Amino acid sequence: MAKNKLGVHTICTHTGEIKDEQFGGAVSPIYMASSYAYMDVDVKRYPRYFNTPNQDAVGKKIAALEHAEVALPFASGMAAISTALFAFLNHGDHIVLQNEIYGGTFNLIVEEFEKMGIEYSFTDGVEASDFENKIKSNTKVLYLETPSNPLLTITDIKKVALVAKKHGLISMIDNTFASPINQRPLDLGIDISLHSATKYLGGHSDICAGAVAASEEHIERIWQKAKNIGGSLSDFMCYLLERSIKTLGVRVDKHNSNAQEIAEFLDAHAAVSKVYYPGLTSHPQHAIAKSQMHGFGGMLSFELTNEYDAVQFQKELQLIKPSMSLAGVESTILLPSATSHALLTAEQRAEVGISDNLLRFSVGIESTQDIMNDVEHALKKALVTLV
Ligand SMILES: *Cc1c(COP(=O)(O)O)cnc(C)c1O
Repeated sequence: MAKNKLGVHTICTHTGEIKDEQFGGAVSPIYMASSYAYMDVDVKRYPRYFNTPNQDAVGKKIAALEHAEVALPFASGMAAISTALFAFLNHGDHIVLQNEIYGGTFNLIVEEFEKMGIEYSFTDGVEASDFENKIKSNTKVLYLETPSNPLLTITDIKKVALVAKKHGLISMIDNTFASPINQRPLDLGIDISLHSATKYLGGHSDICAGAVAASEEHIERIWQKAKNIGGSLSDFMCYLLERSIKTLGVRVDKHNSNAQEIAEFLDAHAAVSKVYYPGLTSHPQHAIAKSQMHGFGGMLSFELTNEYDAVQFQKELQLIKPSMSLAGVESTILLPSATSHALLTAEQRAEVGISDNLLRFSVGIESTQDIMNDVEHALKKALVTLV
């Protein structure tokens, strides 16, 4: 069977699975061993070497989805991101990062890099020229994230990858928001694709994991660092992640269509002043999104007009859960001004486009009519005059 010819849903369901030779069970067995034979074996297996049977299995599935030669599962998205960054950045090196990146990645950079002697610059925008402008003689890595959090800004992946190639730099992308169903960055010239598997890959709000997908050569270098840092994923979690990814394709297809419908509903709603969703033709980078994504994803943000109290709105929701995380099968909502951007002043938030009435919405796979009914119900109770 030519593995790379398989359709995406077949890869989700089957690729990487461990055949149960002993009992003929239909799913991968879980090998919990933390100690393996070392004599007369091809591979010396150990969980922190990222090479147990279950780590291999889920890694193969993710690699196939990302069109990568190899993928490694990690204990969290941040374990994957930090290990990949440290594999390619040494004392004296410099990295250019997109201005809008995940808060945890931002914290890693600003809290740890300077004392390790690693220099960094953030771009002023998301054009390829914004990345190129910040390149210095000691730059080693370009780092992007698209769609971004929470404003769903789209970066032109191909153009940034070309800038990296032109200057001989490694390009890395945080592909969490899109998932490999909607976006395959390696096909667009990116070297390394990173995931918080806690989000769409896991998809049920019950797994904390991460993943890195790249060429054999780049993974070898990341693996050398990974076994020293030790952020490996337990075999039980590998099994759960493998099981979750079996439905990744159908889940993401439903997230895509639900989010499109909800985005259009909100866009037409009098209580909503702005909707950020790459699938809306009014999104400033809709054309780029269309050219590089297979679907527009389940994440959107919207702003309520001043007549509504966003905090009260969240409290009145009965189906949609106010929640820190995202990308589960259930709809969740979050107020960036009270969470990820709480440390900024209202003015600073306004500057980066995050008003106090902006809500980030992770659209779930429920029946859309129920989601819309919940929004309507909560809006009625969140009119400022009534509060
Ligand atoms: C959640 C998230 C991360 C971090 O992943 P963890 O699994 O929480 O460590 C990184 N990038 C993005 C875009 C995320 O949403």
